[in-house]
Amino acid sequence: MGDLSAVTKAGPVPQARPGAEAADGAEAGTAEAGQLEAGEFRPRSLSPSRAGDFLTCPLLYRFRVVDRLPEPPSPAAARGTLVHAVLERLFDHPAAARTPQAARALLDPEWARLTAEDPELTSLFEADEQRDAWLAQAATMLDRYFTLEDPRRLEPAHRELHVEAVLDSGLLLRGYIDRLDVAPGGEIRIVDYKTGTAPREEFEARALFQMKFYALVLWRSQGQLPRLLQLIYLGSSEIVRYAPDEADLRATERKINALWQAIERARDAGDWRPRPSRLCDWCAHKPICPAFGGTPPPLPDPSADPPAARSAVAGAPEPPGTQ
Ligand code: SF4
Repeated sequence: MGDLSAVTKAGPVPQARPGAEAADGAEAGTAEAGQLEAGEFRPRSLSPSRAGDFLTCPLLYRFRVVDRLPEPPSPAAARGTLVHAVLERLFDHPAAARTPQAARALLDPEWARLTAEDPELTSLFEADEQRDAWLAQAATMLDRYFTLEDPRRLEPAHRELHVEAVLDSGLLLRGYIDRLDVAPGGEIRIVDYKTGTAPREEFEARALFQMKFYALVLWRSQGQLPRLLQLIYLGSSEIVRYAPDEADLRATERKINALWQAIERARDAGDWRPRPSRLCDWCAHKPICPAFGGTPPPLPDPSADPPAARSAVAGAPEPPGTQ
């Protein structure tokens, strides 16, 4: 393939990702209600994160999409948001100025901006020492980034790119891509930053599903098959690369359509079953989960106004290996 390290610069930075969607590169904080029709909670769209929620646990999907329950911010999710924000802003600098020192210098102002947008984030730390230690972890992740890529040699075509496409089934797919690189020959590389460690085999398929989801959206919306999917794990200094083909993306489309049908069946039946796993340790809704002796709230009245969106930086049930 062409040299995607020497990419072309294309267009302005598109619409910024809302809230903490950057927390895991997969819309951890999106109010994912989709396109609501009057008087009902029937999402018509799907993002990789919410698809992953349903695959992980249908009840978790219900809590987030149907009930839209608030979730308290978590240090891990907030750190992911901060690191993503710094890496996005780093490319505002001229190429030669994209140094580790420049990235570290962005930490404080980006944290100030995030807390101004979501004051609840300040409640994450009881003491300045805790916050400083947390910031130091974020700085370490940024240092790791520079061992994996040289941003002085890159000119991303897009950062925090909002993408969407409608499948033949009528389902709207949407999401945010951390970075899109376009080689001089036009080849596309989708890049996603992860602030966790590279996943063990059981979670690698989930991470790649998210990337294939984005690849499918680009393929369907632009008619071009992305050449490379690249996951950059800043928790473990690893890069996972995958070159999708048409058969991959057609299979992904079938999987997404089947998943959507399963979501529709669950909604029609009001049957959102818990699926306990080790991810439950990271689930903000464990206290009301029947799998752990809790009682979920009644399903919302479809004729009522949609509940308020949840916290911008959610305590997502993402194990360390998947953030
Ligand atoms: S605690 Fe586990 S089973 Fe219960 S809703 Fe959360 S992820 Fe699902």
